[in-house]
Amino acid sequence: MKSLKNIIITLSVFAGIAALAYFAYLVPFYEPETSDFSTSIGKLLSADYLTVLIPLFLIIGLTTAGIVLVVILRRILAKTDKTHSRFAEVRTGRQKGTAPRQKPVWFMVLRWIIMITFTVIAIWGGLIFGMGVSGLSIPILSCPWNTEEMTSSSCYYLSHLNELFELPWYQILIFLGSTVGFILLLGRAICGFLCPVGLMQDIMDRIRRKTKTEGIKMNEKMYRAVTPVKWCLVLIMIGLCFAGGNFCNFCPAVAVAPVLAGMSTSLYVSGFLMILVLMGGFFKRRSFCMICPLGTIMGFFHKISLFRIKKDTQSCTECGACYEACPMGIKTIYTEREKVDVTSANCIMCGECIRCCPEDKALSMTCAGIRLYTSSRKTIMSGYEPDKKGGSDK
Ligand code: SF4
Ligand code: SF4
Ligand code: SF4
Repeated sequence: MKSLKNIIITLSVFAGIAALAYFAYLVPFYEPETSDFSTSIGKLLSADYLTVLIPLFLIIGLTTAGIVLVVILRRILAKTDKTHSRFAEVRTGRQKGTAPRQKPVWFMVLRWIIMITFTVIAIWGGLIFGMGVSGLSIPILSCPWNTEEMTSSSCYYLSHLNELFELPWYQILIFLGSTVGFILLLGRAICGFLCPVGLMQDIMDRIRRKTKTEGIKMNEKMYRAVTPVKWCLVLIMIGLCFAGGNFCNFCPAVAVAPVLAGMSTSLYVSGFLMILVLMGGFFKRRSFCMICPLGTIMGFFHKISLFRIKKDTQSCTECGACYEACPMGIKTIYTEREKVDVTSANCIMCGECIRCCPEDKALSMTCAGIRLYTSSRKTIMSGYEPDKKGGSDK
């Protein structure tokens, strides 16, 4: 009976998402007077660039308006609904999904530097290095890498597999080799260190903290409820890839990366989705990552990825700080009492659990068996910054 209920819920979510996507597809988010895929350093420095950036300004404006609206609605609800009280949060087992305020630790600083550097390379790299890499089709880099025409570069072939097999064999090999290589070796460390959409969500989380806006806390039931959405999006993505559908119209990154690189093109569902991604990332850290189809597919290979999260169960005092800080709500990191390897398919290798663990070497991140980052009581004791008002971090 319960599985029938789950199937009905999944099908309803699937139908809802498909209907919404269809309606959003009929109404373009943004249409320029003329599409222009060409880009150059000169264009980025000219006044034309401001015209190209119009959809981005639209996205920022609508996201800000949406966030303000949600904050106002939450304040009204909090006055009338007792389930928003602090006591109710404890009773319902809601988890913050963010770490307490701490001084920056080297690992997090390095992670941010890598994420920002990679985002710059992914978006403007083709221009910076003067390369039009259309012949290479490197999937890990975004579509602006092709400086001639968007069709035939980078991740385009991930969503147009039918066209991939029309390429010369050496290009197919480069594409498949780099895709499989990156995914197998790095796994979801791509999410923690390289993905520009992940970086955007992290920036939104920082803005929320700076503006002292309360985030959305989730309990296990809520985490389970998003699972059908995740699988529906995976099905839609795979379906579009094999059916030759244009996944680019749905990819939220398309609303940002090509625009920043100076390409002027129509945006459909991607523009609406980017607003939802940014709003979601503001209220719940890495909320889109919980349902991202690409991240889910990368998670299939988590058992063979070089990056692992390891736990010394002898040192663990079962304090739960790791679970409290995990943006993906991974409970096994805290509950596991036997296995050393606690890497989950949902783990984005952000390292927040390790940063917050107060026990020496209880949690570690390793790459190919080499310990990269480990929990330390000393770092916790020296780095903890209590909220000036005496309350906990939001
Ligand atoms: S889950 Fe998706 S959006 Fe999030 S970091 Fe990974 S690839 Fe990027
Ligand atoms: S379990 Fe993974 S996703 Fe969760 S905090 Fe640790 S590293 Fe980040
Ligand atoms: S934070 Fe460290 S000590 Fe606390 S439950 Fe997690 S692994 Fe154990």
